[in-house]
Amino acid sequence: MALSHQQKQQVIDYLQENARAECPLCEGHFEIHDRLLMPQAFEHGETERGGGIPLVIGTCGNCGNTQFFSAEVVGIDLNEA
Ligand SMILES: [Zn+2]
Repeated sequence: MALSHQQKQQVIDYLQENARAECPLCEGHFEIHDRLLMPQAFEHGETERGGGIPLVIGTCGNCGNTQFFSAEVVGIDLNEA
């Protein structure tokens, strides 16, 4: 299930309240992707099942700088994402 417009706005609101909402490279605006990313943990030469954390992806619409934010910290309900 993709993030709704409301959930993406929630991320932007969170960043504006708790961090620098603009791109640190060019001060452009982040666009929040529809999908969360779940990277796999890697240990001792192998991927570890269940070792990842869900991330929100933000890409600067001006320069392309891409950053990841913890979905849990920014308040995304993972049962609705
Ligand atoms: Zn930028």
